[in-house]
Amino acid sequence: MKIAHHSPEVQSYFTALLERLGEVNDLRSAADLLGWDQTTYMPPGGAAARARQLATLQRLAHEKFIAPAIGHLLDKLEKVVEELPPDDDAAALVRVTRRDYERLQRIPSAFTAQITTHIADSYEAWAQARPANDFARLAPYLEKTLALSHAFADFFPGYTHVADPLINLSDYGMTVATVQPLLRELRTHLQPIVKAISAQPAIDDRCLTQAFPEKAQWDFGVQIIQQFGYDFQRGRQDKTHHPFMTKFSLNDVRITTRFSEAYLAEGLFSTLHEAGHALYEMGINPAFERTPLADGASAGVHESQSRLWENQVGRSLAFWQHYYPQLQATFPEQLGKIDLATFYRAINVVRPSLIRTDADEVTYNLHIIIRFELELALLEGKLAVRDLPAAWDELYDTTLGVSASDYRDGVLQDVHWFSGLIGGAFQGYTLGNIMAAQFYAKALQTHPTIPAEIADGHFATLHQWLRTNIYQHGNKFTTADLVQRVTGTPLTLQPYLHYLHNKYGAIYNLALS
Ligand code: ZN
Repeated sequence: MKIAHHSPEVQSYFTALLERLGEVNDLRSAADLLGWDQTTYMPPGGAAARARQLATLQRLAHEKFIAPAIGHLLDKLEKVVEELPPDDDAAALVRVTRRDYERLQRIPSAFTAQITTHIADSYEAWAQARPANDFARLAPYLEKTLALSHAFADFFPGYTHVADPLINLSDYGMTVATVQPLLRELRTHLQPIVKAISAQPAIDDRCLTQAFPEKAQWDFGVQIIQQFGYDFQRGRQDKTHHPFMTKFSLNDVRITTRFSEAYLAEGLFSTLHEAGHALYEMGINPAFERTPLADGASAGVHESQSRLWENQVGRSLAFWQHYYPQLQATFPEQLGKIDLATFYRAINVVRPSLIRTDADEVTYNLHIIIRFELELALLEGKLAVRDLPAAWDELYDTTLGVSASDYRDGVLQDVHWFSGLIGGAFQGYTLGNIMAAQFYAKALQTHPTIPAEIADGHFATLHQWLRTNIYQHGNKFTTADLVQRVTGTPLTLQPYLHYLHNKYGAIYNLALS
């Protein structure tokens, strides 16, 4: 990366900034690599040393990043980039670096260390107390997490809502004032759909719950993601308990997955999902390597890319018109007598349930909306931690019409509140669903042949459109700017509602609107 048309002095500042950011990036990548190993291959005995190694690397990266030298270089360069257009790469780099620098500067390292220690303890306690169904044991941890979340927000005085600084961490630029009305409006549309679907005859999805040997599932998934454009020269797939994507450079973007030999949909769609995250990172402008621009724009935008490939593509009828005969050939005994229509309905069954990660496309967002509202109530002091389980159950009952018989499948099901702060942890998933539909609608408007190409097993037009419009920009634009740039309108629910109404109206023989 270069800064255009400037004196050797300015060039040297820019080069010095890139070098310092590159070193920070290398330290973070080393930590990410150790984290990847921790959840894939590390023997249990390595845990204590690994926690220490991660803490050391993270501390070094943090210290290096908030060093006064970076502040001085930003001071020098900011005046220069003011004259550049806002979409200039160098201007974006200075802007994004300043944003991260200011944020990290405000948080004392002692506080960061306190959070890290608390989260490690809290995760450990959750891992034991969840199987034991012991909410009482975890309540004190949650109390402390809540206090730390407040303390975190207070490093950013001037916020409108106490959750805003927390939301900003994962979805920069989003606030309670922008997210909450969107989610509440979405809820008013989703609940009637769920109700109408629940009144229809249930879909028979037993074809998915048979014996499906893992090796054949693995090979089938790998073949599909290669056709999507996932490049095994620049990535690899491994197994883990909770699938994720991680990268150590733009040429080493890895995914993890998990399989159930008793349930076909789990491994298959997890693989497609994580590949979607990876395609995004693999498509970032190579010039951004080792800079803060070599990242996704936000949790929401990242999730939009995984869900677009998993759902808009991977759960579409066009996709399975091409792949179902191959799947039948892979599992002739299990699926040979099951027709495409039955299989398609089975992978798109809508069924209100207790567990977020098992939820279908329609009910999934209701799980998120429940968590988002509970986070706000806790942070606003309207809900006490001791009353959280009752509030959780009541919302599940009124929103989804289901109730958990224990904490395990209720309030303790997600790791998020036990591995991070309270506030900002969940909205990205639903923002991702909304954006996926908005981006995909724009892609189809520009290239109406995309569904027909997918039905032939071709993804190049869609992949190229995503690279050009979204992937290459990395973290250069804010979420709001990116959505506006790509689709010509601000973030809106309409394409998502349109998608759900059409798809599920057809599957369930309903006139949804
Ligand atoms: Zn994801």
